[in-house]
Amino acid sequence: MTPESRYTSGVHTDQRKKTPSTDKAAADSTRVLQPGEVLFAEGDMADCAFIIESGELEISTDHEDGKVVICNLAAGDIVGEMGVVDSTPRTASATALGETCLVVVSRDQLSDRIASADPILKLLIKILLDRHSEERADDALISTELVGEYVRHGIDKIRLESELKRALAKGELEVFYQPILDPQRNRLAGFEALTRWHNPVRGHIPPHLFIALAEETDLIVPVGLQVFKTACRQLAKFQAIADQQPAAPPLFMCINISARQIADRRFIGQAAALASAAGINREQVKLEITETLAVDIDLTQTWIKRAHELGFKVSLDDFGTGYSSLETLYKLDLDTAKIDQTFVRPLHREPRSRELMRGMVELMKSLQLEIVVEGIESPADLEFVTAIGCHLTQGYLIGKPLPATAAEALLGTAPALEMPG
Ligand code: C2E
Ligand code: CA
Ligand code: CA
Repeated sequence: MTPESRYTSGVHTDQRKKTPSTDKAAADSTRVLQPGEVLFAEGDMADCAFIIESGELEISTDHEDGKVVICNLAAGDIVGEMGVVDSTPRTASATALGETCLVVVSRDQLSDRIASADPILKLLIKILLDRHSEERADDALISTELVGEYVRHGIDKIRLESELKRALAKGELEVFYQPILDPQRNRLAGFEALTRWHNPVRGHIPPHLFIALAEETDLIVPVGLQVFKTACRQLAKFQAIADQQPAAPPLFMCINISARQIADRRFIGQAAALASAAGINREQVKLEITETLAVDIDLTQTWIKRAHELGFKVSLDDFGTGYSSLETLYKLDLDTAKIDQTFVRPLHREPRSRELMRGMVELMKSLQLEIVVEGIESPADLEFVTAIGCHLTQGYLIGKPLPATAAEALLGTAPALEMPG
């Protein structure tokens, strides 16, 4: 909190006046003040905050004996935010000492950021505001009525996070394996490792919930390592079963990798050691990364290079759902791309979606990428994507994610790894 905030939110003012300068500031995204110019005065309505880009502001209040300077603020400081969050009038004046450049942060911009913040952070802001503010308007950005909700949400999240930590320590997280088919040879080619969490009290917790939670914190790093270790060991078992059949090709294992794991410098080396310890060939492991994470393209490029040096394959998951799909395809040195299931859903009813799928497959083939289509649920979808030359297919039609023992049984019963049907 800036020194100005403490004062601007603590003084009572009955006359709420609005100076034209504040209105104008809300409309513009930057303001340049000349020396001596007043940014806002005590008692003004607060409709925006300011970040000082350059220059200096003097924060002062008027007392009977004259002006009292509270502090000076410089580049990087934020000023006037408390009144905006709190909807209370300015309780100090801000005057430029030299030429001062400011970025205007509107009430809406602040409100958007607060709305998307973690519930615990919202609660924290509310507590800080209450501590420093005696007066709060009805339209404050964090209303008292909503606080109960933040507390509930915040507590729920914190509790779930602690439970996830415990689940990780107690080995409660289980890895399921979804079969992936080579439709050209009608042969089981590999699996995708998908994590499951069965909480003794809450029951089954879907991965989109707990993985997202783990991704918000660094918990995804140990979770990811445990999944990696389990999946590599399981691949060794799968391969041993497959090798009992004549001319069985090497199986592969797709393992989902989160952005934080890529940012974690130690991860890729630890993954290499875990794969070696499991006795598998690293080429049998496909590291699945998503497009959103490819936003930091330089980091991802370097990481892929290292993964390749260590022998891993790299696959782009959920292709087509990110905003930079095509750019990602040519910039990243990928081995495989997985076409997202949203492109499969309309295949049976919309001829144009079939053309789109055909086009994507052609494009990827010309980039020498291995193509996987996920979300195959009907024989017609499988027939279509096989006919247009997709290399691999995955979906409920081929098989749902299975516990390790069920996946082992599937491998054992599939002659020459041929899939039934
Ligand atoms: P994903 O990587 O895109 O995985 C595919 C998801 O689609 C899985 O959901 C799978 O069960 C589901 N699926 C497969 N075939 C079909 C189908 O034919 N129809 C439909 N409707 N769904 C199908 P799941 O297991 O619930 O996982 C959801 C997401 O959670 C995964 O999406 C992945 O992003 C994430 N996830 C799961 N396990 C891990 C993990 O160990 N690490 C990381 N980083 N993410 C994981
Ligand atoms: Ca995946
Ligand atoms: Ca996917």
